[in-house]
Amino acid sequence: MSDRAGSPGFARRLPKAEIHLHLEGSIELATLARIAGGEGAGSRARLAALYTHRDFPDFLQNFRRVCAEIRSPGDFASITEALSRRLEEENVRYAEVFCSPTIFRRAHGMSAGEILDAACGAARRREKAGGPRLRFLLDGVRQFGIPAMEEMVETAAACRRYDVIGIGMGGDERSAPTAAFAGPYREARRLGLHTTVHAGEFDGPRSVWEAIEILEVERIGHGVRAVEDSELVRVLRRLGVALECCPTSNVKTGVVPGWGRHPIPALHRSGVAVTVNSDDPAMFGTTLSNEWEVLLTRLGLEPEEVMAIGQRTARATFQPRAEQEALVDDLRRAAAREGIVA
Ligand SMILES: [Zn+2]
Repeated sequence: MSDRAGSPGFARRLPKAEIHLHLEGSIELATLARIAGGEGAGSRARLAALYTHRDFPDFLQNFRRVCAEIRSPGDFASITEALSRRLEEENVRYAEVFCSPTIFRRAHGMSAGEILDAACGAARRREKAGGPRLRFLLDGVRQFGIPAMEEMVETAAACRRYDVIGIGMGGDERSAPTAAFAGPYREARRLGLHTTVHAGEFDGPRSVWEAIEILEVERIGHGVRAVEDSELVRVLRRLGVALECCPTSNVKTGVVPGWGRHPIPALHRSGVAVTVNSDDPAMFGTTLSNEWEVLLTRLGLEPEEVMAIGQRTARATFQPRAEQEALVDDLRRAAAREGIVA
């Protein structure tokens, strides 16, 4: 173990992948103020208040209010461009980005095609200029119900030309049981879309059981409450289902009572495929590099364990195997330069 591995900035220097990142939660206040036309001091204070959260329901309400400020496909192009620049600064090479088009169709009548055309166009322009490769996962909103989810699955399949590769579902985990969405997830699999779902974040281990046994997802969004059920931990390890963990998010929404009680070390050391992600980086005041660093500094993992989690994240992407392994090789070489054996 090297001192340098714990030095500030080490994570930023390493090439990284991210698999749980919401486009709408990545909007920095400056970008939000610009697209909302809220540059005045009063409006800016109103918008700034959306970045602190009392608890999980309060966070969901703030997320909705941020979304209400996004009114045009041009806004999506600006947001995606800003995200891509930020990821490039942090040496993130590849990211799978959630986007929730249903919210904007309902609020402003924007179609998913218009949104994805703008977001994907911005992402591809940035990639050509040396930015990260972005792929999109359409994220359903659980409390909108099953018909909305069915429609979103069809939309995802129709938006493949905009680099949409799969679906997820977020929102209020207690609004409807995970198992109720078996139909739309079966259809997504039939259409060849990749699948993940937020579960075991706010709701307990049962939602994770339903996600793997009934929705048959490839990955679980968060899933940290699986730690409460030792049989579930054994099953996750055996199946190799990756958990898209987002350490700061859990602390800021109150899902976890504090850094000292975070389940990531226990899950990782039980052999579960833990990955590291930023979730809604702007809304939680974090970055992916910071999430890597808190694994060391707040959660007490060793540098080699952090590196193993970073490699797992690259291997849990929905990229072809060769591209996963190319990133793992780059990460290993960069880690060696930092004095970390990976
Ligand atoms: Zn999320």
